Amino acid sequence: MTSNYDVVVVGAGIQGVGVAQAAAASGYSVLVLEKRAVAWATSSRSSKLIHGGLRYLESAQFRLVRESLRERALLLRNAPDLVRLVPFHIPVYRHTKRRPWQLRVGLSLYALLGGLDASARFRMLPRSQWRELDGLDTNGLQAVFRYYDAQTDDARLTAAVLRSAQNLGAQLACPAEFRAALWERDAWTIRYHHAERDHECRGRALVNAAGPWVNDVLKHVVPVQPPLAVDLIQGAHVVLPGKLERGIYYVEAPQDRRAVFLMPWPEGVLVGTTESPFHGDPSKVEPLPSEIAYLAETAQRYFPAIATQPTSAFAGLRVLPQHAAGVFHRPRDTHIAGSERTAPGLLTVCGGKLTGYRATADKVMARLAARLPAHTPRAQTEHLKLSAPN
Ligand SMILES: Cc1cc2nc3c(=O)[nH]c(=O)nc-3n(C[C@H](O)[C@H](O)[C@H](O)COP(=O)(O)OP(=O)(O)OC[C@H]3O[C@@H](n4cnc5c(N)ncnc54)[C@H](O)[C@@H]3O)c2cc1C
Repeated sequence: MTSNYDVVVVGAGIQGVGVAQAAAASGYSVLVLEKRAVAWATSSRSSKLIHGGLRYLESAQFRLVRESLRERALLLRNAPDLVRLVPFHIPVYRHTKRRPWQLRVGLSLYALLGGLDASARFRMLPRSQWRELDGLDTNGLQAVFRYYDAQTDDARLTAAVLRSAQNLGAQLACPAEFRAALWERDAWTIRYHHAERDHECRGRALVNAAGPWVNDVLKHVVPVQPPLAVDLIQGAHVVLPGKLERGIYYVEAPQDRRAVFLMPWPEGVLVGTTESPFHGDPSKVEPLPSEIAYLAETAQRYFPAIATQPTSAFAGLRVLPQHAAGVFHRPRDTHIAGSERTAPGLLTVCGGKLTGYRATADKVMARLAARLPAHTPRAQTEHLKLSAPN
């Protein structure tokens, strides 16, 4: 017997489970297909920050920053076990590209976009406090700014959002690999492989949230869909032995002046990230030796006493729109693509931020509304509490 769903979602990364939560909260029946494990891909390999993205102000992505800061506020309220405010420090040296006045302007704008609440405050630390900063190099140091953003465990957050979706009735099939979709008789017939056999279900809407595999999914959709014009950009992190007691440090890599974070993490100091073009099988993404060296050198430049032999390292893939601008300046909004004319009820969601998953899911549901029957909503996602799975 073929099961019928309102919404079938491919991928249980943060975007897929976010859509599942929003769809279930709106009263729809939902099936999520995940081929490996919940959050095993990009959604467990991020920098684990719930933030507005201070640096996106440089590329004038004000709408994205404002939306992300609003989502940060909701997550701080709804998921206090999973998302917590952390002090961030930006040291400014004689050689630093961004001058103190620029940071003051940027942080003021960031506070304004964050609604000027208590978490939006920033200040310049007096010199007398510099020596308390986890061994930060004070040679040539001119100023240290402290502001606040939030940190999470990305995989646990994803699992918590999925649990919330399941509490509202969403179903998960895992491991279950999407194989094909065919538009017929006003719905999608979807084939997937699960528990060693092929299955079929029907969905009024199909959401492709397959992360770095979104174009692989599109290849198996009839009517034939053009691939999205996106690039995969690898980002690596290393964990160095040691401990940061005072919070997160936001520094400029000496090699190319890109922003790099050093973050406290249960296993040590998490340092990231890099931006390297990626061509190949997304399931095989690994940190490159040059990325590991770049991150370790950056950490040692600012914390001379830090040990530079990583205890672990990991890499994930950003899905970014193809763009003439360098990687650093490409838009970081979530890409929601689909054509009602050629593929009714099919949307592809990729890129964007972990932070904005809920706002993205709302936009997806708004675009699918005309395709789905009227239902009584069960909840509003902005009020749903999220709790950490054990
Ligand atoms: C290096 C790096 C650092 C980042 N740091 C931050 C940060 O600090 N803060 C922030 O807000 N954002 C950050 N991001 C962005 C954020 O991590 C991503 O936007 C987000 O995790 C993407 O989630 P996703 O659900 O789209 O993709 P994924 O997490 O990759 O999930 C896609 C899922 O689809 C599944 N799938 C694929 N094909 C199939 C199929 N055929 N059948 C069934 N399932 C399938 C995969 O197994 C996978 O689980 C970072 C990203 C990177 C790469």
